[in-house]
Amino acid sequence: MKLREFACSFTLLFSLAYAVRLAAQRPAEWTAPFPPFRIAGNLYYVGSGDLASYLIATPKGLILINGNLTSSPPLIRKSVEALGFRFSGIKILLISHAHYDHCGGSAEIIKQTGAKYEVMDGDVPVVESGGKSDFAYGAVKTMQFPPARVDRVLHDGDTVQLGSTVLTAHLTAGHTRGTTTWTMDERQGGRLLHVVIVGSPNVNSGYKLMGNTVYPQIAADYAHQFSVLKALPCDIFLGAHGGYFDLSDKYARWKAGDKDAFIDPAGYKAYVAEREQAFETELHRQKAATH
Ligand SMILES: [Zn+2]
Repeated sequence: MKLREFACSFTLLFSLAYAVRLAAQRPAEWTAPFPPFRIAGNLYYVGSGDLASYLIATPKGLILINGNLTSSPPLIRKSVEALGFRFSGIKILLISHAHYDHCGGSAEIIKQTGAKYEVMDGDVPVVESGGKSDFAYGAVKTMQFPPARVDRVLHDGDTVQLGSTVLTAHLTAGHTRGTTTWTMDERQGGRLLHVVIVGSPNVNSGYKLMGNTVYPQIAADYAHQFSVLKALPCDIFLGAHGGYFDLSDKYARWKAGDKDAFIDPAGYKAYVAEREQAFETELHRQKAATH
């Protein structure tokens, strides 16, 4: 085995080991119960301490974004019902991206509600194989999840409509091939607010940005993602994990009476800029390592 091959195998083993450790040591915060609440208009938070789920209530039924972990549906159901909605009222299920912490609960939610599962094209094989076709974690058993059949394949720019609510699916790939950033508009206090739910701009530990034979265009996809995120108008900044947008701090302010706590265009811009910098730093590091 040549030194380069040895180094590659070592890196792969290391990243697999890291992934297994990551899955085994989920921070308790991820799944800690979190009070459900109205973010703005007909948009509600129904996730846990860090795994974000969003409920959109329309006169024609409910839309849920993210089923989270395989173990999450009972907690999501409790939150939906605590807000006064019927869980069976969920007509459409969407996800941020096809990783076990955002779509692990999808199969169970579909079973309980009969919701239509609408997923971005690049993530469809992953959700339908229960994670086995994931470009990075396909072989990691602890990151697999119950497979679920997709009812509608989404493409970049497609809209999901229920009643008069319209969500737009923006392909922001890289983290997965179908990572989706959702946008919608909400009215609050006579103001029109642009909502952005970031899918994930993160380059996970062990992701190969250079010479990735399984996902050759990964670096170009991340670069495209950042150009998309920077162009989106954002008032209400949300994402797949509460940590992206400081859920705990903002909720504390919201609870104390600041109903505008989630309006944070500057925070969104700063977050996207910081994540883009992190991507570029990692890309340069990997480029330097290949020379
Ligand atoms: Zn992920």
